[in-house]
Amino acid sequence: MKCPRDGTELASVSVAGVELDKCHQCDGIWFDERELEVIRKLDLGEIEEQLEREFGRNPEYREGETDGYMRCPRCASDDGRLQQHHFSYVVPVKIDRCQTCQGIWLDDNELDKVMDDKKQLNDAYSVNKLAGFMRHLEQDIARMGKSKGGNR
Ligand SMILES: [Zn+2]
Ligand SMILES: [Zn+2]
Repeated sequence: MKCPRDGTELASVSVAGVELDKCHQCDGIWFDERELEVIRKLDLGEIEEQLEREFGRNPEYREGETDGYMRCPRCASDDGRLQQHHFSYVVPVKIDRCQTCQGIWLDDNELDKVMDDKKQLNDAYSVNKLAGFMRHLEQDIARMGKSKGGNR
């Protein structure tokens, strides 16, 4: 497959046992259907940094890069144009998704943003859980106080 942004042949890389296709030119990554969901569920930090440490990084070289519409590297047909979607909840990330095969293209740094978004969601969730727990605890204490008073 070729990079939808600059036409470089994508190299296959493995992240936590999931085979992804990465462009070493622009550091974009292609995810087949559901692969991003799988990666997102894992507790991984700094994936992009690890990949760049392993495969090097060449951010200045951007020959042939397109800022216009990208075509799906898997479908590579006229209707395989990637559509922009908002993927995240807390951190704003716009991803490019193919409507035909549901594959997703992430540009440089977008994977880190997706993972950061998940982390912030988790943090918000655990804060909410703690707040809920404290509320129950206070209600229990209040109830215990009342029943003690009734026995008197
Ligand atoms: Zn590329
Ligand atoms: Zn496609």
